[in-house]
Amino acid sequence: MLSQQAKILVADDDRVVRRIVTVKLSGLGYELSEAEDGREVLDRIEGGNLPDLLIVDSLMPRVDGLSLVQTLRANPDRRISSLPVIMLTSRSSEKDVIEGLEAGLDDYVTKPFSPDELAARVRTVLRRREHASGG
Ligand SMILES: [Mg+2]
Repeated sequence: MLSQQAKILVADDDRVVRRIVTVKLSGLGYELSEAEDGREVLDRIEGGNLPDLLIVDSLMPRVDGLSLVQTLRANPDRRISSLPVIMLTSRSSEKDVIEGLEAGLDDYVTKPFSPDELAARVRTVLRRREHASGG
């Protein structure tokens, strides 16, 4: 899999943020899809629709970013438990970042974020995962 063609699912209850992420990353050749909260992400994954990378907001209704990471990491299916996740956090969600990293979060970006920085982190996480899987 070439990382530039990776499927990325972005989950944020703020459609403006989803739009910024989608425009930036699809412009770089990634295949983007969007979800409004963590529950929608879990529904898609349980339905067999597995992205190569998740970008998740920390504060979302129903299932938030931290709960989502913890739920994914606890999944017995290794393809799901090892899904790369980058979290979008606010300054006030330091606790979520720390717990997220402990739960296996791959990286995070603090809002308001630079789309260029997010793209660089996406590249890094995908490259790291490709090396880890020997691909
Ligand atoms: Mg939010």
